[in-house]
Amino acid sequence: MSVFDSVQAMGHEQVVYGHDPVSGLKTIIAIHSTALGPALGGTRFYPYESEEEALIDVLRLAKGMSYKSAAAGLDLGGGKAVIIGDPRTDKSERLFRAYGRFVDSLGGSYITAEDVGTTTQDMTFVRRETRWAVGTPFAEGGSGDPSPVTARGLYASCRAVAQHLWGDSDLSGRKVVVQGVGKVGTAFVRLLVEARAEVVVSDTYQSAIDNVVDTFGVKAVESRDSFAEPCDIFSPCAMGAILNEETIPRLQCQAVAGSANNQLATDEDGRRLAERGILYAPDFVVNAGGVINVYDELLGYSKTRALHRVDGIYDATIRILETARERDITPHDAAIHVAERRMDEIGALNRMRTVGHP
Ligand code: NAD
Repeated sequence: MSVFDSVQAMGHEQVVYGHDPVSGLKTIIAIHSTALGPALGGTRFYPYESEEEALIDVLRLAKGMSYKSAAAGLDLGGGKAVIIGDPRTDKSERLFRAYGRFVDSLGGSYITAEDVGTTTQDMTFVRRETRWAVGTPFAEGGSGDPSPVTARGLYASCRAVAQHLWGDSDLSGRKVVVQGVGKVGTAFVRLLVEARAEVVVSDTYQSAIDNVVDTFGVKAVESRDSFAEPCDIFSPCAMGAILNEETIPRLQCQAVAGSANNQLATDEDGRRLAERGILYAPDFVVNAGGVINVYDELLGYSKTRALHRVDGIYDATIRILETARERDITPHDAAIHVAERRMDEIGALNRMRTVGHP
């Protein structure tokens, strides 16, 4: 498929390629939608095997950001960037500053932040060349690492799931299996333990397991066995596409709610979960805490306001689960419906304002 075919099929507004021969920067920025505001999304630094693979990833991720921000009620569109390279060996000040200039050339229609392979520290170099970069460290006036805030939003979603399924949002005594105890998973385990939930964790990295087991006294299982561990909520906090043909039949939970991006391998897997009677809280609703937090930097960062808005993920999750129930559709489809409706309605209002105030 050509670039134009891909872009047309997925409805992106703009895709731009940037290159700096001195630092070796090779980047693609995809802007999916600016209907609700500037397109915000992180910069993924990854050793893609081909430019086509990088393009497909950035297009898919940018579209996901449009839905995530729309469903979270933010005045933001969706975009994403990829830098093709190995984050362990190819990073330099020059590269990030050249990248910052490239972001700046888009005049604020795309706002960047950190993502897989980039850090808050890298964003400080980007930020020296453009004001259209968020997610810088606290010490630099930014909002810092978003992971604990993402965990807080995930926790709010789990309470909403409990309210929806069992008529009580209290998680004490509920059993939650957390797959992946990295930055988000560990912060989430802390919140669950404080709420007196029963927690079982898994990770492919032994020292990550040792850390949470020693700190919180929780139980651990092998990662491959975590799918079949009986529990109330199964919480994927590691990799995408882990809900698929092979894993869904093994699940022994009543609900799935986790921070990992793109958990459903295909849309069909949303239906597979529903057929098994497992409630799925859509990933892009559940894990919006990070984007809500960096969005607040654009307003002059207030942690109190950001956390207040992140706690709104409880209501957002309830609304989507209720919409799914009323319309007899999957929660994933309901979340897409809610996001698209907001993009249409508020997007139309924004276009009217542009016409009214040229
Ligand atoms: P992280 O890299 O800190 O943690 C991921 C953990 O998962 C690691 O400890 C890793 O060893 C483990 N892992 C990898 N494969 C596994 C497997 N098959 N089974 C069990 N464990 C496995 O990442 P993070 O920042 O905690 O993010 C977790 C997920 O949430 C990612 O999918 C990320 O894209 C998503 N997310 C994160 C944020 C954020 O604020 N950090 C925001 C939105 C979405």
